[in-house]
Amino acid sequence: MLNIILFGPPGSGKGTQSEGLIKKYALQHLSTGDIFRSEIANQTALGLEAKKFMDKGLLVPDEVVIGMIGSKIDACVEQEVKGFIFDGFPRTIPQAEALDKLMAFKNIPIKIVLSLEVSEEELVKRLLGRGATSGRADDQNEEIIRQRVVEYRSKTEPVAGFYDKQHKLTRVKGEGSVDEIFASLCHAIDSL
Ligand code: ADP
Repeated sequence: MLNIILFGPPGSGKGTQSEGLIKKYALQHLSTGDIFRSEIANQTALGLEAKKFMDKGLLVPDEVVIGMIGSKIDACVEQEVKGFIFDGFPRTIPQAEALDKLMAFKNIPIKIVLSLEVSEEELVKRLLGRGATSGRADDQNEEIIRQRVVEYRSKTEPVAGFYDKQHKLTRVKGEGSVDEIFASLCHAIDSL
């Protein structure tokens, strides 16, 4: 199975690039952010819990995220997909450890971690731009955006080192045209 983690700060283009990768490699998309937003829209208990953190630009607690992703993977494995693309997950070392255990147990390990590299000023610019049109509350306030970047630097960035030690990390320049970045990502996948 071609299991990919698309890694990078908020606004680095994970959602945009996932769309192309899903089509090209017939992957199942698992975006924790999308899942939480859909849970919030449906006003589920999980959604209400996640919203408390998301509205402040904070990460949702690990136990909430890990429990949820396990059941989503199980549901997809039953449908026999060619691989998973994880977008916005794992975002902490405990999440990465939990994912590794889960995938090892199912004998479908992560093949590659693609890290989109984008400067902080570019990130804030993109997120504010998205906030003006997407209706996402967490993209409309510069303070919340900066808080998300702080969370990323302190809790999520170390996850890159975790996968680098396993020789699974490939860094890709996340600035340039959508097509150029897509080509770099495909090149990394095709060189596996
Ligand atoms: P972005 O990458 O642009 O910040 P996401 O849609 O991936 O957007 O995530 C939005 C919010 O959802 C995050 O700021 C966080 O509060 C929550 N979230 C998403 N995925 C996770 C995760 N794996 N762990 C903890 N919180 C998460």
